[in-house]
Amino acid sequence: MLPEVEKLLRVQHHDQKLNSIKKELADIPLEEEDIRDKLSADRKALEEAKTNLQRVEVAVKTLEIDVETRRDSINKLKVQQFETKKNEEFRRMGIEIERYEAEISELEDKEIELMEEAEKQRKALQEARAKFEENEVSVEEEIEDLGSLKIKLESDYEKETADRQEQASAVEEDLLYGYDRLFKAKAGMAVVGLVDEVCQGCHMKVTKSTVVEVKAEKKVANCENCGRILYWWTDDSVGKNMGDY
Ligand SMILES: [Zn+2]
Repeated sequence: MLPEVEKLLRVQHHDQKLNSIKKELADIPLEEEDIRDKLSADRKALEEAKTNLQRVEVAVKTLEIDVETRRDSINKLKVQQFETKKNEEFRRMGIEIERYEAEISELEDKEIELMEEAEKQRKALQEARAKFEENEVSVEEEIEDLGSLKIKLESDYEKETADRQEQASAVEEDLLYGYDRLFKAKAGMAVVGLVDEVCQGCHMKVTKSTVVEVKAEKKVANCENCGRILYWWTDDSVGKNMGDY
């Protein structure tokens, strides 16, 4: 392989690694957001369970007050009954007392229903809280793991950058400049093999003269379709050169 092309392949190898590390790093905040979203759904469920229980408990309290008010009224009526001398008044108060008693029994039936409902809500709240707390721990762990991954990737990135610089410094300036432009324009594939007269970048057949040029390995040759730098691909051309990295 032409030494210049071989050097560029090494540079490209580092550049591709750098790209993939960059992508992984860019994904971390998104992953973190996904993880936190999971917890926010659990937090919402917990808040809802709390509100539901509160609502039932308030309803029970209201019923208790309603019952209490009627009991007071009954007690007052009983005192008045005791004090009155008029039969008609006594009878009327008796009817009122019965009405209050009937209302109390109705309210107490409702109260029992609501207390059963409260019991259900209390259980639901317990479950929601347990789920939230469990996930809170696992979310914290996942976030921590992401933090460690980020540190590792940043250090990998630094190392790759240094290695890339070292390889790039061995390449002639104009050639490196052209390579850089190609690498950016061609989605991270600037130097590609020529296999059976086909450019492995654009998958088009190149002309005979290009084939001859590439095979000769006398100067840097480009694909006339996509402009990528070509090297003569053999079974061990990549293996042999990549083995050094
Ligand atoms: Zn091409």
